[in-house]
Parts: sequence; C-alpha cells; structure tokens
Amino acid sequence: MKHINVALFVPDMGCPHRCSFCNQKTISGKVVPPTAEDVERAVQTALSSADCNEGEIAFFGGSFTAIDREYMLCLLKKAKEYVDKGLFKGIRISTRPDCISDEMLDLLSFYGVSSIELGCQSMNDRVLSLNKRGHTAEDVVKAAEKIKKHGFEFGVQMMTGLFGDNDEGALETAEKLISLSPDTARIYPTVVLENTELSRLYREGKYQPQCLDEAAELCAKLLMLFHENDIRVIRLGLHSGGNVEEGFVAGVYHPAFREICESRIYLRLVLDEIEKKNIESTDIEITVGRRFVSQLTGQKKSNLKKLNGLGFKVSIVQNDFEKYKISVRG
Ligand code: SF4
Repeated sequence: MKHINVALFVPDMGCPHRCSFCNQKTISGKVVPPTAEDVERAVQTALSSADCNEGEIAFFGGSFTAIDREYMLCLLKKAKEYVDKGLFKGIRISTRPDCISDEMLDLLSFYGVSSIELGCQSMNDRVLSLNKRGHTAEDVVKAAEKIKKHGFEFGVQMMTGLFGDNDEGALETAEKLISLSPDTARIYPTVVLENTELSRLYREGKYQPQCLDEAAELCAKLLMLFHENDIRVIRLGLHSGGNVEEGFVAGVYHPAFREICESRIYLRLVLDEIEKKNIESTDIEITVGRRFVSQLTGQKKSNLKKLNGLGFKVSIVQNDFEKYKISVRG
C-alpha cells in the first residue's frame, strides 16, 4: 500500500488582501469551501486505498488561520479525529505571515496541526508591496520565529518572476528564507491567471513573466541552494489540474518543470567535473545514483544529446550515490 496525504483546498475566504497574481478560484479549481463532511469523505476515500499513517491531512489555499474561527475549528475537529486514532501523522496548513499569533499557534497545536507553511513569496518589501501582498518581510521573520518556538514543522513558499522582481531578488529571498531554518520549501514560478491584477499589467505591457528557460535556470540554482542547506523542496511549480489550464494567460506552467530543473543541475555538475578534472578524452563514463539516472540523462535524453553535441560519447554507471553526486572519468 502506498502512503498518501489528503489535500483540501480552502478558498481565499480569509484573505484580507488580493495579491496581484492570485485568482484562488482558478488555482483550487473549486469555489465552494469544504465542509467537515467533505473532510470526512476525502479522508475515508484515501483510507480505503492507502495506508495513511505516515501522511497528513492538509488544508491548502487561502489563509487558513484567517478564515472564520468557527469554520476553521469545525474542519480541524474533523481532521483531528483521524490524527487521534493514529490514522494520519498530523495536519498541515498554509497561511499568510501576518495571520500568525501565539494564541492561534496554541489553538492549532491543540487541534493536531503539526506543519505550518507560510506563503512568503518574496523577502523584498518593494516586491511584496508591488504585488499587493499586504505584509512585509519582517512579518515573515516574526511569524517564522513564533512557529518554530511552538515546535511545528515549518515550511516556506516563495515565487520567482514576480512583478518588479528579478533573479538576484529571488536568490536573495531564498537566502533570507534559508536563514529562518525552514524544514521544507515550495517554489512557484509566477503564472499569470485570468482575472488578476497581473493579467491586467501583462496585457498593458507593464509585466513580462519569465520564459520556461529563464525560470528553469533560476529554479535549478534555487533547488541547489535549498539542498545545500538541508531544506527539502517539496514542490517546484504549480500542480497540474485544478483548472489552472482554464485560467492560464502566460508564464511558466509545465507538468515536468521540476524534472527540467533537476536535469539542468545534473548537466551543470557533469560539465563542471569535466572542467575541474581537465578531462580531455571524448569517451566519458559518468557514475550516478541509480535513482537519479533519468535526471542525469534529461527529458527525452536531452542532456545526453547536449553532451553528444559537445563531442562526448557517454556511458553511465549506476551505484548508490546520493542526490546531486556524480563522478566523471575520461
Ligand atoms: S494570500 Fe494567498 S490566497 Fe490570499 S490573495 Fe494572496 S495568494 Fe491569494
């Protein structure tokens, strides 16, 4: 049996602001807020096909801690029943940095919440303001301190290609988020969705989203940065489905985006190693962990084709190397 999480989308009912890029209805693909019965149904469906005791019941979307208190507790109570029975490991929520207080964290802890993700998006106040986030970088820092002090698993979410941001800004955001010692991170290249401030700016020619190539190059660097600091990147790019396709206007939205970024990292590792070892032979043997062969070869063998194009004949040896470890012999 596989281990799975149950994810429920709670639309932006609690959001005190409307971020430039957000059309929550489009992202969640669902307008009606879930009820306790919906939680029960989703959990029962999951339990009927999988062993979930290592999984979580997750409430995503919106600002979970800013929704109506009674409604929030009604969802949590239902989820807690399953956590108390040991059928799930815990409850995961996502929320805004300015919707965290000690009182709220005590409440979440009481109801079995184990992981909290903060939608940070940027750590640059100018970018946050341009994108109408309604909070500052300092709010992120304060919320992170509180969440960690209360002992929750802590996750951060950031975006690339935001209105007014650039690669340097995104890398600085990642560095600042890393300094908060999160356990996990999610990275989302900006997608322009219909009925958003960003779609207006895009159509007026005031905003240009990243192209796939630019986003992949930057996100490959961000992946490495988080990896080097022992922070798991649990999501890269928006999920497919959820009706994003219907509201899509422009930006980076590719079902295999993470694979594309991982492959770039492996190609860079190989080329760096060839240069470092000063390998002159055109016949090269690359050793890689067996779980990472497809990332080394790239989508549709793109990396092998690139190496062939550079004149290398490649053979691959598989072993137990960990992620991002390779060795090249000439
Ligand atoms: S805080 Fe999140 S859900 Fe609310 S408007 Fe902004 S992006 Fe949308």
